[in-house]
Amino acid sequence: MILTTPLIERLAREGEVHVVATPANAAVLANHPAVASVIVYDKRNADAGFAGLRRVAVRLRATGAGTAYMAQGSWRTAVLARLAGVECVGFDTSAGRWLYSRRVGYRKDWHHAQRLWALASDPRAAAVAAPMQLRPSLYPGAADDAHVTALLAAAGVGAGDPLIALAPGSVWATKRWPSYDALASELVSRVPDGRIVVIGAGGDAPLAAAISGAVQHRGGSPVIDATGQLSLLGSAALLSRCAVLVTNDSAPLHLASAMNTPTVALFGPTVPAMGFGPLAERQHVLGREELTCRPCSAHGGLACPLGHWRCMRDVSASSVAEQVERVRRAG
Ligand code: SF4
Repeated sequence: MILTTPLIERLAREGEVHVVATPANAAVLANHPAVASVIVYDKRNADAGFAGLRRVAVRLRATGAGTAYMAQGSWRTAVLARLAGVECVGFDTSAGRWLYSRRVGYRKDWHHAQRLWALASDPRAAAVAAPMQLRPSLYPGAADDAHVTALLAAAGVGAGDPLIALAPGSVWATKRWPSYDALASELVSRVPDGRIVVIGAGGDAPLAAAISGAVQHRGGSPVIDATGQLSLLGSAALLSRCAVLVTNDSAPLHLASAMNTPTVALFGPTVPAMGFGPLAERQHVLGREELTCRPCSAHGGLACPLGHWRCMRDVSASSVAEQVERVRRAG
């Protein structure tokens, strides 16, 4: 959804944009000025089954929308649009493509934000966007900002203290770089005035505890554990105050792109060329490019199929710390 916002902004210049979204994705679009309305499609609960699909279709039809841009390409969303009497435009690789009135080539060599943005292009025209047009946008609200302010105040963060965000989690185990604690330990001496804040889901708390322990061992300032405490927009609000984010190939990378937070991104079993690299102005990607087994899957798996997991284990904490300093200094 975050990478869809450049397409939404483009379409909003021509007319109202109504977005059909899951409950989680709907929350991400709160306050977004380019979105006229969000139609929540809770396909697993309130809108389960064909009756739920029809109910949502009635709400979509009521918006008067004429074209549906199928960022999410399932057959179910295509049926939804057709039930609402809306023409569909989507990728020629999507499961629901048989129901589309126009199919657009899925360019594997493009960033995914560019692919989505190009859905709205005249097929005969050049469709490449300028980098600025591709940066996603999110709009945390006043409550998100207040929450972050309270969190930082409780941790004793001063106005000029540089915040370094670490996002050590990922749904996929092979995407989780295993050396965030060693990095945090190095940053104690490299950025002595910095404060480390860990962001992520509640399940990432053990990773935050390991980072906190490493910093404590080196006598650094206490780590701020924000895991499980912030919504996605709250995390975006926090990232907007950070000097740099270190992240795996996971959701915080895209939050940082939306807030233009300088980013050091660690890619292991996946590669940025798949279309999901950082889009912040200042960013650096680290990965073991010499490994011929990369990439080994579309999303990263739960275990390395070769057993050695060198794509992540061989990325050293010192090489990441160097890039943290470099990306910060470039500002
Ligand atoms: S096969 Fe290679 S790219 Fe895949 S997880 Fe193992 S080391 Fe990483």
